[in-house]
Amino acid sequence: MRFSSRQEDRLIDALTALYCIIGNPVSHSLSPAMHNAAFRALGINAVYLAFKVDEEKLQEAVEGFKAIGVRGFNVTIPFKRSVVDFLDELDEKAAKIGAVNTVKAEGGKLFGFNTDGMGFIRSLEEEGICYRGKNVLIIGAGGASRAICAYLSEHCNVTVVNRTAKKAESLAADFGLNWASLDDIPSILASFKEGDLIVNTTSVGLKDEDLELFDYERLLKPSFVVVDIIYGKDTKLLKSARKIGCKAVDGEGMLLYQGVEAFKIWTGKNPPIDVMRKALKSSS
Ligand code: NAP
Repeated sequence: MRFSSRQEDRLIDALTALYCIIGNPVSHSLSPAMHNAAFRALGINAVYLAFKVDEEKLQEAVEGFKAIGVRGFNVTIPFKRSVVDFLDELDEKAAKIGAVNTVKAEGGKLFGFNTDGMGFIRSLEEEGICYRGKNVLIIGAGGASRAICAYLSEHCNVTVVNRTAKKAESLAADFGLNWASLDDIPSILASFKEGDLIVNTTSVGLKDEDLELFDYERLLKPSFVVVDIIYGKDTKLLKSARKIGCKAVDGEGMLLYQGVEAFKIWTGKNPPIDVMRKALKSSS
């Protein structure tokens, strides 16, 4: 099989390294496009595929990867937490987050990392958003929220709110943060100052187009920065934020930079970020 007609293309052969993503569903994933473009651009003899895995087959899949020498893989919904049980070691951040999105195979062992939080921070930095010392409202207390909180907790005054308040309480306890319920959002935002951040980490906006996490028109102020980590979709939150005059950022940068960080972990090389970005844009 030959990729396309680019100069740096090479044949897939007996030495081609295999990387992949596992999830369920996984057919929507943009990671294969992004990583294959990076491998090609750097002339690395590797290929990145996507595998849909049934929940009860996760252990078999991971053990199979180990047996056949898969070099590394990404993990997406719903396996970011459950995959931890089948890995040999976790890095410090992944252990604290309790979830893994990147696995590297080395010396017959599988090492787990979580690059989502770093991806989020790098996307803010690329947008020129100053987060240090700011008030941050994080909505949601799922896996992505935990990864983001692990980083923001070191630099910001973070309050986590969640539909299931107990999960916000538990996340806040793990990272030394404040927590509240969704009903408290108006009073939290009333105390926000210029440049403070609102981050939606829930899946609200992905399908339920009209659902609002709070009254966007009434409570958003032009001086706020609004981030919705959903990607490939202009959510109602982002549309409202833009209309009001806030700086509004979607999740594409986070997706790109979690991939950039994973690529570095696997290959030890600096990935071609613009190539990866272009691949993302052309396949989304
Ligand atoms: P998750 O662990 O399943 O967490 C989902 C969160 O959404 C929970 O806090 C849940 O609240 C909340 N939620 C769901 N439906 C809700 C509703 N109707 N009203 C209020 N809250 C609701 O999922 P995840 O892995 O954290 O992913 C969350 C989102 O982030 C997804 O849209 C995903 O695509 C996106 N994401 C983006 C990136 C990126 O690179 N840009 C990376 C990872 C994830 P409860 O606890 O009450 O159920």
